[in-house]
Parts: sequence; C-alpha cells; structure tokens
Amino acid sequence: MSLLEVRDLTIRYRTATGEIQAVDAASLHVDAGEAVGLAGESGCGKTTTALAIPGLLPDNAYVAGGSIVLDGRELIGRPEAEMERIRWREASVVFQGAMNALNPVRRVGDQVAEPIRLHEPATSANEAQARVDELLERVGIPAARGREYPHEFSGGMRQRVMIAMALACRPKLIIADEPVTALDVMVQAQILRLLKDLRDQLGLAMILISHDLSVIAETCDRTVIMYAGRTAESGDVGAIFRTPAHPYTQALIRAFPNVRRERSFVAGIPGYPPDLTAPIPGCAFADRCAAAIDRCRTEVPSLRSVGPGHAAACHLAPGADS
Ligand code: ATP
Ligand code: SF4
Repeated sequence: MSLLEVRDLTIRYRTATGEIQAVDAASLHVDAGEAVGLAGESGCGKTTTALAIPGLLPDNAYVAGGSIVLDGRELIGRPEAEMERIRWREASVVFQGAMNALNPVRRVGDQVAEPIRLHEPATSANEAQARVDELLERVGIPAARGREYPHEFSGGMRQRVMIAMALACRPKLIIADEPVTALDVMVQAQILRLLKDLRDQLGLAMILISHDLSVIAETCDRTVIMYAGRTAESGDVGAIFRTPAHPYTQALIRAFPNVRRERSFVAGIPGYPPDLTAPIPGCAFADRCAAAIDRCRTEVPSLRSVGPGHAAACHLAPGADS
C-alpha cells in the first residue's frame, strides 16, 4: 500500500472574477521512502496539490472532490484540530523562500524546537534541546549556531534550518516546494545532496516540487508531470526522461536540452496554458499540441498505463485506444 494516495483531487479558488479550477482530478501516489517529483509550468497546480495534503490551503480554496489517503487514513474532510496533529508529525512542508519563513527576532534553535514543543509537549526542555542539536548537526549546521539569529545565516543555511524544522517531529513524508529555487547553483547542489542523504538515512518519503526538470532527474525516483491542474504523465524518472509518452512532457524535456547536466528555466513551448476559470472539455494541452486530433478537443483523456509503472493522459499515447 502506498504511504500517500491522492486520487482525482479537485481544488478550486474563489476569486472576484470567478472560480479557478487549480487542480482538476489530479492523481499521484508516493510509496514509503520514495522521492516523487512534481513538475510542470508555473500555475499548473503543483503547490495547490501539495498544500492540500497537510491541509494548508488558503482560505479562498476548497476541495471540490477526490481523496487524499495518508498512511491508510482519509485526510479530506478531517477537522482542523486533527490536521494540526498530522502536520509536522506525519507530513511536513519545506516552503520556498526560506529567507522570509523564519522569524527574524527568534534564535534559530528555538525555532527548530517549536514543532517539538507544540506537538510533543511531554518532551522535557533538555530532551528538546538535545534533539535540536542533533537536527542541526544532521542538516550540516554546528549545534552551537542554534543560538544565532536568522540574519547571521546565509540563504543555504536558512534552507537547512527549514529542513531541520520539517524533520523535528520525525514525519514519514516531507513535501519540499521549490526548495532550491532561490539559491545559487552551488548551494542548490548542496541542499539537494542533503535531501538525498536524509532520505537514505531516515527512510523519508518526499514530494519535491520543481519547475526545473534537472532537479527532479537528480533527486527523485518517480516524476509526476502536471498540466493545467491535471496529471499529464507519471512514471519512473528514467522512463519519463527517456521515453516520455505525453506531448507536453516531450515539449518540457525539449525545453531542457541537457536535462541531466545543465540547469535552465522552462522556455520554448509555444502558446499558453488554458484559462482555468472556464471548463476545459477535452485535453487541456490541445491548443498547444501539434499532434491534436478532433477527439482531443471534446474528450478528456484519462490517465492510463503506457508501460510498467508509467501512465499518461493522452488519446494518442502508446497503448491507448485512439
Ligand atoms: P508556481 O510554480 O508558479 O508556484 P504552481 O504549479 O505551483 O505554480 P499553483 O500555485 O498551485 O501552481 O496555482 C495553480 C492555479 O491556482 C494558478 O492559476 C494560480 O494563479 C491559482 N492560484 C494559486 N493560489 C491562488 C489563490 N490564493 N487565490 C486564487 N488563485 C490562486
Ligand atoms: Fe495532444 Fe491530444 Fe494527446 Fe492532448 S490528448 S496531448 S491534444 S494528442
């Protein structure tokens, strides 16, 4: 059984100009100890999907359908008090932009101790301190630096602190949302190495959100490609990058000519993603897809197997009944 099973998740934002269907029947799963990359262009629903798992959606968002089962328990519809217990202890999030996420007037060590204090109140002060020291060392920060303030840390060190906080209550799943985007390339490599080492040492499962396919290729076992709120393709990293089945994934990979060697930003897919305030009757990629046929504009392609552990939502994918 998967540690996390997200099925047909649908999430809408209420806005002054109408409702935005940010996530549209998206599905993904994460096995224990597995790292799954969530990729796709800006606005495709990666963050919204990830925030729904620990129940951290903004107030104007609501789940319109689907299910999120973590460790055998349905999370959709759980009261906030129960979700609070699940956050940090079962699934915790490393947000993008660690620069702003730490409280500037509190010592770093006290901030790492906060989740332990809140969620494990029986822990003594000495024990909590010992855990903070161990956590800081584990993410490559000398324990003594826990007495310092965030402004005394570099961007990479602050991201390490955020990772230590996310680990504080020993969750089984970490959701890292663009954890290296704001960092320079050398520091990015160090943080990705750290995430990999932590997975190996602690048997953590991880969802790594990135618009940068090379980050996912280096760090993850499997990849889920999202487009316009839907799952376009999912599969082992090797299968996705060697034999992508969905025209959108193929275009994304072409936009990263050296996916295993060189980082660059997504560019070069002609056209724009569809308007998410209006229903999309067929394939969301149809307006940008050179292979589109009539059926693509009227029938939503379902996600179906195109190989072992590899699925794509395209009417023309290999093995699909086109
Ligand atoms: P990015 O890579 O830019 O973070 P993303 O793939 O994570 O993008 P989301 O941030 O999940 O995508 O956004 C999905 C859609 O929902 C987008 O159209 C976005 O504009 C919209 N959206 C996100 N947050 C809100 C909000 N608080 N209110 C209204 N719409 C929102
Ligand atoms: Fe292109 Fe049609 Fe496949 Fe969509 S379903 S990706 S439009 S071929």
